[in-house]
Amino acid sequence: MAVQKYVYDFSEGHKDLKQLLGGKGANLAEMTRLGLPVPAGFTVTTEACRAYLATGSAPDGLAAEIDSQLAALEQSMGRELGDPADPLLVSVRSGAAFSMPGMMETVLNVGLNDASVAGLAAQAGGDDRFAWDSYRRLLQMFGKTVCDVPGEEFSDALEEAKKVRGVTDDLALDADDLRALTERYKRIFVKYTGREFPQEPREQMRQAMEAVFRSWNAERAVLYRRQERIPADLGTAVNVVAMVFGNLGPDSGTGVAFTRDPASGAQGIYGDYLQNAQGEDVVAGIRNTVALQALKDLDPRSYDELLAIMATLEGHYRDLCDIEFTIERGKLWMLQTRVGKRTAGAAFRIAAQLVAEGMIDLDEALRRVSGAQLAQLMFPRFDLAGEPATLTRGIGASPGAAAGQAVFSADRAVELAAAGHDVILVRRETNPEDLAGMIAAKGILTARGGKTSHAAVVARGMGRTCVCGADELEIAADRFAVSGRTVSEGDVISIDGTSGRVYLGPVPVRPSEVVQYFEGERVDSTLVEAVDAIMRHADQRRRLAVRTNADTGADAARARRFGAQGIGLCRTEHMFLGDRKELVEKLILAQSEVDRTKALNALLPLQRDDFIELFRAMDGLPVTVRLIDPPLHEFLPSLEELAVSVAVARERGEEHSEDEQLLDAVRRMHEQNPMLGLRGVRLGLVIPGLFAMQVRAIAQAAAQLAAEGLDPRPEIMVPLVGAVQELEMVRSEGEHIVEEVIAGTGVQVLIGTMIEVPRAALTAGQIAEAADFFSFGTNDLTQMAWGFSRDDVEGAFFWRYLELGIFGISPFEAIDREGVGRLIRIAAEEGRQVKPHLKLGVCGEHGGDPESVHFFDQVGLHYVSCSPFRVPIARLEAGRAAVTGEGSDSR
Ligand code: ADP
Ligand code: MG
Ligand code: MG
Repeated sequence: MAVQKYVYDFSEGHKDLKQLLGGKGANLAEMTRLGLPVPAGFTVTTEACRAYLATGSAPDGLAAEIDSQLAALEQSMGRELGDPADPLLVSVRSGAAFSMPGMMETVLNVGLNDASVAGLAAQAGGDDRFAWDSYRRLLQMFGKTVCDVPGEEFSDALEEAKKVRGVTDDLALDADDLRALTERYKRIFVKYTGREFPQEPREQMRQAMEAVFRSWNAERAVLYRRQERIPADLGTAVNVVAMVFGNLGPDSGTGVAFTRDPASGAQGIYGDYLQNAQGEDVVAGIRNTVALQALKDLDPRSYDELLAIMATLEGHYRDLCDIEFTIERGKLWMLQTRVGKRTAGAAFRIAAQLVAEGMIDLDEALRRVSGAQLAQLMFPRFDLAGEPATLTRGIGASPGAAAGQAVFSADRAVELAAAGHDVILVRRETNPEDLAGMIAAKGILTARGGKTSHAAVVARGMGRTCVCGADELEIAADRFAVSGRTVSEGDVISIDGTSGRVYLGPVPVRPSEVVQYFEGERVDSTLVEAVDAIMRHADQRRRLAVRTNADTGADAARARRFGAQGIGLCRTEHMFLGDRKELVEKLILAQSEVDRTKALNALLPLQRDDFIELFRAMDGLPVTVRLIDPPLHEFLPSLEELAVSVAVARERGEEHSEDEQLLDAVRRMHEQNPMLGLRGVRLGLVIPGLFAMQVRAIAQAAAQLAAEGLDPRPEIMVPLVGAVQELEMVRSEGEHIVEEVIAGTGVQVLIGTMIEVPRAALTAGQIAEAADFFSFGTNDLTQMAWGFSRDDVEGAFFWRYLELGIFGISPFEAIDREGVGRLIRIAAEEGRQVKPHLKLGVCGEHGGDPESVHFFDQVGLHYVSCSPFRVPIARLEAGRAAVTGEGSDSR
């Protein structure tokens, strides 16, 4: 068996070994290979770290390997680590596969001790000040990161030393001051650790390395990884790098730079430089840095060399790079580079610029942007120039910027919005009853619930701004109080769904230019040009069509402007709310055929008009209409309220036969678990004539538009089917009606089903016999596959599941590939076996989720459907899925 190799010299690695060497190590190796001036060094692998973390001690053979690497390093440098006469010093640096800026630890100047500090001074031409400055830095970093000594102890002591000398700048401390400070640091070290600072250079190095390994599990690193969804078990590599010194005088210094502006993407030289300083001073903000351009005057030769290297790196990585460098007495050294983080706007601009410069092709540009970034660019913005007063802060649950009058009930929201006011709906938490108010409001603010609360999920789906969980709010019926202020109905507040901030008063907003562009307006900006170029390419490449979920003509029209290729889900239940609710109530409670027919006849023309509006907006494109789905109780008065009012009436001896009748009926139909009860296709099979009326309305609408010369393409979707028999019954009735209504018009009506009950997925082969298409209702499918309710996920246990890592992200947000995804695969495969051309799509939240879009592409579905605002995001991600090479050809 080959011996495990744990240590790689910089000359042995390269940029594609990030998993093994970490990003920092892999890129130091790459720069070494490119012949750039990198101090010599080596990398201890992430494997060694994992082994250390698993057992608590270094794996066998590691010590010996480090010894021989160190010997090689010493030889190439012509110095020995910590040699009292002429010491080699090293830095011991963390560096994981994913960059976790500032999360883990680095120790500089390892190898200094009471003896070698003199050697270092001699080496620097008798510069005692420099030597003691370096030594006190070692004590400080080693104490803090290796031995957990509180950092303030050291920084306070430094401040005190400056005060004693009456200076403000650490550069004004001389060699004696720093020597005294070093002695003080040593005492601090003893006080907190109970032992002396280790003088033995190799022991320093060993302890520093193990501290870097352990820093992988430091609290803030764990938190950062959770936030960024970085796996917890990767470990960090450790880099040992020969020290170069930026603190050797005015001809030395240290800096950071970007090859392009990470905020705007503009090409140029961006960075900061600090004369006579060591690396960490730049970020620590100890002294004021100067703009990198100043280096041109300070040290023109190094400046030119740096610019040339930056050009080399950009050309090599074909992307924006950020770098760390140090100048030691006029000699430039490269200490780090990586492909730099950037804002969403810069990601698009840079990708498009690199295409224009011929550095990358459009496929690569597409891979370098994401739907999440596009989503960020689509949110409206607050103009904070007027410095508005912050009232409180909650969780930014659905981004955007919204201002309006505070209202405290859905009804008021609807009323005021109808009167032309902008409103913010403020609720302790929301529930499905609030839907109309949420739609009417510009934004939603809740005191309770997190990112997966009802408010958050619904708001995101609608692209409505939402701040939830603002738990300082004390909400009453018509006002809320927070930090001594009271906001009453009608008072204007502004909420920022990204930062979670709530402001008093109106803060001006402007729509994002990217949305203006999608709306078809002319916008002159480099950002819009970049988005346009990349979107066009995504459209050209993608295999998935993108439809929208829309229930109104206005939504449909907007989605179409945003690029929707039809409607994948038109929910008809909204069409039964408002003043029509009464008709539905009558229908459900009808005792006789006559009553029922009367109610149905009243509903039919209303339904027909809804569909006419929709088909018109989507002329020439498919419109999938889902027959009525929601549980019955949503249409009936509440059992409790009704019982109370009947009881009160009885007590007073009043006659209320109508209410009593109603109460009887509601009792009869009451269900313990309405979500698992009389809904979807069951409703259609139990209430005669209901589905038939809807099908008739659809067919009549289509026939009328065809007569006008339009091209309606209705698709009728039956919800909640679990057995082919259910679908067969609805289908034969539906076909019959369709034939009767649209004979001779040339309109074609498809009849298909949702796959949202696990049994439907598992018997998809049978169901396909009776279906022209499947549309995966992934919300219900997830709910029923896991057996937990989507509406209660915020409650008792969900947060704990997330915390325990049972799922990394809510399965209602990103499709659960192994479980729910497997059901989808089975249904798609078995359906296709029976009908090779069976049309397959997805409606439901996941259709607009980037992760999930990639999965649906892999499974080979034909389309995804999502809310209008998510349409561009789905288009982009479908394009990205197509250029990753993981797709399916089964379409
Ligand atoms: P981080 O990941 O937090 O940036 P680094 O490992 O890059 O930590 O190191 C912290 C600082 O020390 C950086 O400014 C870096 O440039 C500097 N530094 C690291 N190694 C050396 C070295 N061998 N010589 C001089 N400066 C160094
Ligand atoms: Mg760094
Ligand atoms: Mg459903």
